[in-house]
Amino acid sequence: MDFDLSEDQRALQDLCYKIGSDFDNTYWNSIDQEKRRPQEFWELLTEQGLLGMTIPEEYGGSGLGLFDLCLASEALSEVGSGDGTSAFVAGPVFGGYLIERGGTPAQKQEILPALVNGEMWAGAFTEPDSGSNVTNIKTFAERDGDHFVLKGQKVFISNLSVAKRIAVLCRTAQRDEKNRMAGITLLLGNLPDENIEYHPFKKMGTNYMDTNALFFDGYRIPAENVVGEEGNAWRLLYKVLNPERLVISAMCIGMGNYAIRKAVEYATDRSVWGVPIATHQGLQFPLAEARIQLECARLKVYEAAWLFDKGEDAGVATVMAKHAACHAALFAADRAIQTLGGAGYIAESGVERIYRNLRGTRMVPISDEMVLNTIAQHDLGMPRSY
Ligand SMILES: Cc1cc2nc3c(=O)[nH]c(=O)nc-3n(C[C@H](O)[C@H](O)[C@H](O)COP(=O)(O)OP(=O)(O)OC[C@H]3O[C@@H](n4cnc5c(N)ncnc54)[C@H](O)[C@@H]3O)c2cc1C
Repeated sequence: MDFDLSEDQRALQDLCYKIGSDFDNTYWNSIDQEKRRPQEFWELLTEQGLLGMTIPEEYGGSGLGLFDLCLASEALSEVGSGDGTSAFVAGPVFGGYLIERGGTPAQKQEILPALVNGEMWAGAFTEPDSGSNVTNIKTFAERDGDHFVLKGQKVFISNLSVAKRIAVLCRTAQRDEKNRMAGITLLLGNLPDENIEYHPFKKMGTNYMDTNALFFDGYRIPAENVVGEEGNAWRLLYKVLNPERLVISAMCIGMGNYAIRKAVEYATDRSVWGVPIATHQGLQFPLAEARIQLECARLKVYEAAWLFDKGEDAGVATVMAKHAACHAALFAADRAIQTLGGAGYIAESGVERIYRNLRGTRMVPISDEMVLNTIAQHDLGMPRSY
């Protein structure tokens, strides 16, 4: 492994530091309080070509790797704009990796350039009665001539208010207990549509995106909009899930480091016993520990992205990276709040928003427990426990 960054990668980081710094704490606090999408930020990402980074050059993108996308996610987050990196998941990850790896030539021709131009997607996988057990999904797509007609329900589906397309994981054949993954298909629908109903949830954080209960009742998707092979979506899904986990992990690393920087700045300025509170080891040590955790997690994120880009199995490295990154970042954000004292609990500080937003990463896009299940089974070779 050689993580010595090239000149282009350093230039990419610098561009992201610049873009990210143009949107300050006041901006992100207003996004949080008004519960609106960061449209201005996303437009700038699009203008600067960042949403097309990983799309092949022949479709108007830059043809870079997941490693580069993670660098961008981390750099934007490190200067305080981590809340905007959800655009990377909604665009290049859900849309780009899915279509690049599983799309037909016609789908690539139509969709990949649209993603470079900032098109957002929703990914509808989770259902109320299946949760972490995705093989148990019930949403069914019945063939009707040259269309599929969907009936069913999804839950916690993000970005429906902005998405132009939706990738729906559904059954096109009844569940077979001997092969639970068979019969699951990925269909690509257009939004909005009158046969889709959704209702946003009130959430603890991540107010920069809407997260919804979603109902399909007669939603029609042309049969040619199957992505990959009908009934065999599983393998393809992993081409998207690993990048999603790593882009979010990189965001966590950046946000954790941003929180620490805020804490150090505050502690250096603030005196309550005649000296800056930064001189107290009780505040220094936990921040130093947080830095150690973030640096170690960062290397694992880089390693997993590097494996993915080489086309190697990155599954275990990815979940390890994701677990390490979100825990390190949450610890950092928690310590930042503690360092700021009462001020850290106040919305204006921004660190409480970061903590609330990061808390979700212990469940999303994969929960702590499912990470540990994966490691127990696939790294330790222990029996599957569930
Ligand atoms: C803000 C937000 C945005 C989201 N966006 C999307 C989206 O855009 N698209 C989408 O499809 N989904 C989305 N999700 C859903 C998210 O991926 C799920 O919440 C997650 O996969 C877990 O499913 P669940 O919430 O149903 O938990 P459950 O599966 O009900 O699990 C509940 C608890 O039990 C634990 N558990 C479950 N099974 C086991 C086991 N075998 N061993 C040990 N512990 C276990 C879990 O880890 C968890 O702690 C989003 C969720 C949130 C909160």
